[in-house]
Amino acid sequence: MLELKDIRTCYGNIMALKDVTLSVPAGEIVALIGANGAGKTTTLMSISGIVPPRSGEILFLGQPIQTLGPDEIVSLGISQVPEGRRIFPKLTVAENLDMGAFLRSDQAGIKSDLDYIYGLFPILAQRRYQQGGTLSGGEQQMLAIARALMARPRLLLLDEPSLGLAPLFVKLILTMIRKISDEQGTTILLVEQNANMALKIAHRGYVMENGRIAFSGTARSLLNNESVKSAYLGI
Ligand code: ATP
Repeated sequence: MLELKDIRTCYGNIMALKDVTLSVPAGEIVALIGANGAGKTTTLMSISGIVPPRSGEILFLGQPIQTLGPDEIVSLGISQVPEGRRIFPKLTVAENLDMGAFLRSDQAGIKSDLDYIYGLFPILAQRRYQQGGTLSGGEQQMLAIARALMARPRLLLLDEPSLGLAPLFVKLILTMIRKISDEQGTTILLVEQNANMALKIAHRGYVMENGRIAFSGTARSLLNNESVKSAYLGI
């Protein structure tokens, strides 16, 4: 579904991505793991057009998208859930979800997706008239994912959904991500520092180091790779 070929992305003189090549097959969860500053967020920002690459090619369903703007990329079916959730704090839960469906006009589809989301995250249904900013961190993360799903994306980009959450919520959120993939067939590129949990729910993974891909393979092979184990899994 998505292919990055030799992507270079810079912030001024700093080259954050150095010839990154990766692919995300349709229907899979691909985990992108690595230390702070490795370039994971920049990879997502390049895909979504917020920080366009300086060179290389990004193909989405075979179409080059590296020169498109973020609005055009969203309209093709790519939704990003940014690090730190970035929900609309003054809007209610229901209004946040409405914003996710901003580009859609299929009222019946919107209604059935809303029903699905409220079934998946019952706490959001209970709090639908509450302001987003008053939710707990874990609930805000659910809302951020739910808002992205309301766009009915083909590809969901998730940036550190477990960041700052209590261990119980980390497990819940990652289990829900796997459930969404299994039930909706949504293709997911998941950036995580919690490498262990991410690789447990993913089909395959890439490990980034200093702006490059250092290892890649099936999630199982990475979980068993001695270098990955000692550097990222604390084993
Ligand atoms: P983290 O887990 O800490 O978010 P990351 O793997 O997502 O790390 P990036 O945020 O992509 O890493 O950062 C990659 C490199 O680019 C780092 O050296 C970082 O300092 C630099 N960088 C990121 N954003 C900017 C920016 N807006 N301006 C300048 N340099 C930046």
